[in-house]
Amino acid sequence: MKTEFAKLDGTADEEIYHRASQIINSGGLVAFPTETVYGLGANAFDVAACKKIYAAKGRPSDNPLIVHISDIKDLYPLISGISEKTQKLIDAFWPAPLTVVFRKSGVIPYEITGGLETVAVRFPKNIFAARFIKACGVPIAAPSANSSGKPSPTHASHVLFDLDGKIDMIIDGGHCEFGLESTIVDACGDTPYLLRPGSVTKSMIEDVIGHIEIDKAVLSPLSSGEKPKAPGMKYTHYSPEANVTIVSGSTEKVASFINEKLKSDSSACVIASEQTSSLYDTENLLIIGDRNIPKTIGSNLFKMLRKCDYLNFSSVYCESFDDSEEGLAIMNRLKKAAGYNIINL
Ligand code: AMP
Ligand code: MG
Repeated sequence: MKTEFAKLDGTADEEIYHRASQIINSGGLVAFPTETVYGLGANAFDVAACKKIYAAKGRPSDNPLIVHISDIKDLYPLISGISEKTQKLIDAFWPAPLTVVFRKSGVIPYEITGGLETVAVRFPKNIFAARFIKACGVPIAAPSANSSGKPSPTHASHVLFDLDGKIDMIIDGGHCEFGLESTIVDACGDTPYLLRPGSVTKSMIEDVIGHIEIDKAVLSPLSSGEKPKAPGMKYTHYSPEANVTIVSGSTEKVASFINEKLKSDSSACVIASEQTSSLYDTENLLIIGDRNIPKTIGSNLFKMLRKCDYLNFSSVYCESFDDSEEGLAIMNRLKKAAGYNIINL
């Protein structure tokens, strides 16, 4: 299959959305930008089209897809009932990088919920995503537009690298603002749960609905047989080909440990912050962002992990970052990318 590549640059954007909507409405797949990561979209009502998403990504069929809308009125046909806390959340945040879990209505096929009675819905804020969904005129089922298990795509070139020839079209909207996937919350029951951390943080949510539990799969690896509330959290995720090790401890100890490792291994690199980069005595240095502005680190994390592979490094030593507020999402993705391989000095 030939993958069409279309860049949104203000000159022919309406034609691009029109072409994308033709593809979606004839059962094809379109990758599109959002404020979190690129999504791989299909018509959520078209089971055959949604199955193509699983095939293109190599995604296990029990890992459900998020359904994307561009207008709040399009939510209600997809769900059966809404809890008071859930209503408060969508009133306070949407459109936002926040995905909310609902009891599904009959129009949502089980093939996209991994057989669950619930459906996860998001109303993205990104204007390109909103225009694409609106042009299609149907809800768009979309996971991240990467090969399953690889770092999520934060640039159209990442989608092309993973999925060229496997999907119909890629809409290039430049870099994603946040670069980490949406926060997922399930507030259907009495106890609300944070199923996946993102840039809408736990404390921002608690300001609106009170205390929220963090699902165990967010913080630590699950033992065999344990089931996370977001089925996708049990799979290996975000992993480059290179082996990733997180090194945590005082700045000086971390730098001297990593410098030693790099001295004896020319195929190893370090991912460091702007503040600490001068401590490394190597050319194999990738600077991820400013520790004092976590958003810079979040938006570059997946790009850096991919870069390690493009540059053929076989080992990556990464500094650790503060895990409060939006740092929880950064460390959740980084720990998964490292397979929980963490050295505490
Ligand atoms: P991705 O968009 O690739 O990040 O994958 C979607 C994520 O949403 C996965 O981690 C899924 O497990 C999660 N998800 C989708 N639908 C549901 C649902 N009904 N309940 C809980 N988690 C969900
Ligand atoms: Mg994904």
